[in-house]
Amino acid sequence: MQILSKEYPSNKKTTLNRMRRKPNPYKILIACLLSLRTQDKNTKTASQKLFAVADTPEKILKIPIKKLEKLIFSSGHYKKKARTLKSVSKELIEKYNSKVPNNKEKLLSIKGVGPKTANIVLAFAFGKNVLPIDTHCHRIPNRLGWIKTKTPEQTEKELEKILSKKYWKEFNAIFVQFGKKTCQPISPWCSKCPIKKYCPRQNVNKKR
Ligand code: SF4
Repeated sequence: MQILSKEYPSNKKTTLNRMRRKPNPYKILIACLLSLRTQDKNTKTASQKLFAVADTPEKILKIPIKKLEKLIFSSGHYKKKARTLKSVSKELIEKYNSKVPNNKEKLLSIKGVGPKTANIVLAFAFGKNVLPIDTHCHRIPNRLGWIKTKTPEQTEKELEKILSKKYWKEFNAIFVQFGKKTCQPISPWCSKCPIKKYCPRQNVNKKR
């Protein structure tokens, strides 16, 4: 972790990481939903366009669905995401007085909010010490032999046991960069990897 945090400093922030500076829980939740299954540049474009028009649950509910789809088009899966944005906003208004809850159980009770999104909101909007686990955060610790897990949920539980709490806040930002640049999904750049001498390359069949 010491080597990785120097190599991939979390000041090279993603759209969501930048939002931590002045956290608005609703915008962080919506940006996180937009970021699913797309690249950061698309999340940035879609969230900027959307927040220029609507940045509260009430305002998003008022936008006609076709207009909402157009605003978030660049995030991909825009039809499904537009429906999720509407239903999440409706639930927040009806159940939580338009406020994003700062509690994992309540967040997970909202349809369309999964464990990664819930932890991103808890960490980035409310400063809680939790581990948001996305595909990079799941794949790489398994390759490194730190854990042996099948799902991101199991990974979160196992990492909580072995990873020093001082690294939790930055873990996601560091591993996302590491996963994009070096320990890539199909053929990782093991020859350029700063921690190759510590890695048993578990389940790595092809590497560069
Ligand atoms: S040595 Fe290869 S598999 Fe191991 S962490 Fe580095 S890039 Fe990933």
